[in-house]
Amino acid sequence: MSLVVMKFGGTSVEDPAAICRTAAIVAGRVAAGKNPVVVVSAMAKVTDQLLRAAGAASLGDRTGALAISSRLRSRHRDTACDLIKDAKSSAALITWIDQKFDQLDEVLRGLAAILELTPRISDLIVSYGERISSRIIAAAFCERGIHAVHVDAREIVITDSQFQKAIPQDSIIEKLANEKLRPLMAEGKVPVLGGFIGSNEAGITTTLGRGGSDFTGALIGGALAADAIEIWTDVDGIMTSDPRVCPDALRVKVISFEEAAELAYFGAKVLHPATILPAVKKNIPVLVLNSRNPGNDGTRITSLAPHCSSPFKSIAVKKKLSIIDVVASRMLMTHGYLKAIFDIFDKHQCPVDMVSTSEVSVSLTVDSNDKLPAIAADLSKLADVKYEGKKALICMVGEDIRGQNGMAAQVFAAIRHINVRMISQGASEINMSFMIEEDDADEAVRSLHAAFFQNPDPTIFDVEARKAAAVRS
Ligand code: ASP
Ligand code: MG
Repeated sequence: MSLVVMKFGGTSVEDPAAICRTAAIVAGRVAAGKNPVVVVSAMAKVTDQLLRAAGAASLGDRTGALAISSRLRSRHRDTACDLIKDAKSSAALITWIDQKFDQLDEVLRGLAAILELTPRISDLIVSYGERISSRIIAAAFCERGIHAVHVDAREIVITDSQFQKAIPQDSIIEKLANEKLRPLMAEGKVPVLGGFIGSNEAGITTTLGRGGSDFTGALIGGALAADAIEIWTDVDGIMTSDPRVCPDALRVKVISFEEAAELAYFGAKVLHPATILPAVKKNIPVLVLNSRNPGNDGTRITSLAPHCSSPFKSIAVKKKLSIIDVVASRMLMTHGYLKAIFDIFDKHQCPVDMVSTSEVSVSLTVDSNDKLPAIAADLSKLADVKYEGKKALICMVGEDIRGQNGMAAQVFAAIRHINVRMISQGASEINMSFMIEEDDADEAVRSLHAAFFQNPDPTIFDVEARKAAAVRS
């Protein structure tokens, strides 16, 4: 038997049509003799809206919070009605959905009275997104001939009590996943669980952090020693660059975990690789697939990628960045100076992306944000400070640049017409990144793509798609 964990993100379950596509994909796996375990996100945007409702209630806006909840109730009810035609199952499901929203409203009313939103209450409120979506999806699967059973993820994904970013307890999860899910699969059933949610050992609801459903997929896959984990989303996988900027971008067929991690850090939004670590550690391949284009092979993320004749796998861009220059002619080399600078960023809880130092200055890049004036004011107590927004970071990732001479020369030759502000080569040795003006970013990506993906390695990149497009045009 081939066990596959299939995780579907918010857009893959956003409405009845998407849930039908998802059901067809799962049914296809069952028909192919696989044993799927399905992990689903909340329907698209639901988590954001639940957080807005929580925010409103905590400011005393009871009416506003309940209005958001009421719209969510209608959306889930309508989805259930649309998907479940059997009158009895539909009525039972609608009653259940109403009960959940009644509970949620009770929590929101309470919050509007006490006006204090703790991480614990926030987790309770957002958990309704996955709790309800998973139940509706399991019922929709049953209607479509899949022997689905809904399983409350909170009974398996046991975490510590760090609400909003709870740490999963791997050995307990492994035990519970095997105890609870294996017998169901042995009976030919398909367990359906909500991602993102868990509970601490006292049974209080926790969450794994935003985007945490991938993490759930990897945890369950790791716990069950699955043969593969499939992350179903709405893009064809990891691309050589953003196809909206670079129409001849290619799908990357296979990429290493380390490369995918670098790309995600620098803005590629397909998935957050730290979350698939439990799978990578156990050598379980992770596939990123498109639920709108299920025939496509997607991107396979493995611990060891095959050798690639092209130096880079992909070019990522992170926009809306600022550069802060801290200039102090006397103090730079005095000890504790850098620490003093970083303490200020720490105090304002502002992560720093890239750092470069020279004789007299330290340049740092951060996401543009409204804390910058306050940070600059604090820094100006130490030195002269300038900051400038509208910058972009271009990050070129590929394991095969390791030990290759002259790579930087080739990169900068390809963009010799563009002004480069800051350069860094990551300690990982598999990325080259540099900072330019945001307005130059698209042009830089196109030039780099033209220079480095002229003759792409067909074992690594989907060159067939490019050929097919050339024939069509
Ligand atoms: N629904 C959660 C979120 O939006 C988890 C997820 O989608 O992965 O963050
Ligand atoms: Mg999501």
